[in-house]
Amino acid sequence: MPPSSEPDEFALIAKYFAPLARSSPGSLGLLDDAALLEPEPGKSLVLAADMAVEGVHFIESDPPELIGRKVLRYNLSDLAAMGAAPIAYLLTLAKPEQRSSQWVGAIAAGLAEDQDAFGISLIGGDTSASPGPAMLSITVIGSVGAGEALQRSGARPDDVVFVSGTVGDGALGLKSMRGDLDGLAADDRDCLEDRYRLPRPRLALGRALVGLATAAIDVSDGLVADLAHICQASGVGAAVEASTVPLSPPAKAAIADGQIALSDLLTGGDDYELLFCVPEDRLEATERLEEAGGVTVTRIGRIAEGAGVEIHGEDGKPLAIENQGYRHF
Ligand code: ADP
Ligand code: MG
Repeated sequence: MPPSSEPDEFALIAKYFAPLARSSPGSLGLLDDAALLEPEPGKSLVLAADMAVEGVHFIESDPPELIGRKVLRYNLSDLAAMGAAPIAYLLTLAKPEQRSSQWVGAIAAGLAEDQDAFGISLIGGDTSASPGPAMLSITVIGSVGAGEALQRSGARPDDVVFVSGTVGDGALGLKSMRGDLDGLAADDRDCLEDRYRLPRPRLALGRALVGLATAAIDVSDGLVADLAHICQASGVGAAVEASTVPLSPPAKAAIADGQIALSDLLTGGDDYELLFCVPEDRLEATERLEEAGGVTVTRIGRIAEGAGVEIHGEDGKPLAIENQGYRHF
């Protein structure tokens, strides 16, 4: 039982989560056993889940406002990679006893901000005490035209490989937060840390890619590892020209300053950009996408027969990549 000064589970849901569910009638105000959702005719529902465990994905001192937003954005990035539009999400939360209800309130406040930004609302979830670390998990529901979802498996030899935005900022942001990027200007560090803290799911771009891209993935494990996922699913290989990979000004500064190698940016995770493949005859339409998608798209390589990802350096020789990307196990 919680101390008497703290709201119980139901009061917590009513106070902090019910307001997040107000705009979705199917949530039934979070007062029933489950939520209701009417799928639109001709559409497929698209579902994804992501969780954050204290001590693995965040630490006790992380601002709670950011924890829920970050997990929601990971989920939205998965929807973007499928070409889907967000509809609603479910939230499960395990709260250690020493965490106050204000901590829950701060998580909800962060989520409220992102709900408005991304046009999504809460429709249900579960709340529990935790004898161990805090845990927050979000399941997102989106929709896409039936048969139109972007998948990893459609890449074909000669398709051109594109990536949105810039690559490597997430990995540099994490390095900076760990205090390992001292040489950079404070502005540059802030910019990189912000990219790590709050990924920008490329939802508009993902939807615009429906009918254009043969395969897509969001870059969470690292550019090389995620392109390898596309190659494996599609039964093809890929070659990337390292010099064409788009880098932000702070990332260029970090390389120029000898703080990080280009190959580390190509394998660093947490960028949440979209990596996608387009056949030759749709290139023009793809290059016009920047307007619809609100983010730059850059050609970085090509799909080929075979298997695996080759990275070519400026001298045309393959770049040695040791650690391909992040793995939990
Ligand atoms: P049960 O006992 O069946 O698990 P609960 O009492 O946990 O049901 O949930 C009651 C209602 O509150 C449900 O509609 C559920 O979706 C909602 N709910 C519980 N926790 C959350 C949460 N963290 N976020 C959103 N909705 C929640
Ligand atoms: Mg429950």
